[in-house]
Amino acid sequence: MKKLEELILTYKDFPRKGIFFKDILGIAQEPEIFKELIIEMAASEIIKSADAIIAIDARGFIFGTAVSLLASKPIIFARKPGKLPGELIQKTYSLEYGENSLSIQKESLKKFKSFAIIDDLLATGGTVNCVSGLLESQQKKVLGLLVVVELKELCGRLKFRFPVESIISY
Ligand code: AMP
Repeated sequence: MKKLEELILTYKDFPRKGIFFKDILGIAQEPEIFKELIIEMAASEIIKSADAIIAIDARGFIFGTAVSLLASKPIIFARKPGKLPGELIQKTYSLEYGENSLSIQKESLKKFKSFAIIDDLLATGGTVNCVSGLLESQQKKVLGLLVVVELKELCGRLKFRFPVESIISY
């Protein structure tokens, strides 16, 4: 059986020159490895103690939804502009490459007090910082972040006061 690390491919200069893009989608083509990864993520204390998971558009949805099913935790989605109906909270932030903005449906947060954030990869931390800022603006508690990959040299985790767990780091 292949190892998780072998399924994460690096593409140089994508989507911009100077970026080493980590493509995690190959994990989904190896269900046994994918399953092991989700079991490990779902066992995290951050997940166990959270009222709900919040997953980040779009690759965070793949891992977030699977963890939500296994851990029996509700899941909320932070989405890119123009995707969500209803009353939204929205924030713009800088990426390792470019700028983006994320929205959450206000109504979807109402029932929950504490959240575990899930995404595929932590780079500069701008994306997660945006989501935690949105949650905190609604007086919600962020218990921690879970990612599959962390790019350590970009020091994203230094932006947060909550714990960060990554399965693989570079
Ligand atoms: P950041 O806000 O800089 O932490 O970037 C994290 C978000 O951007 C994640 O949702 C990733 O999917 C994406 N991302 C940033 N840098 C990379 C990279 N080098 N390889 C793959 N995805 C990346």
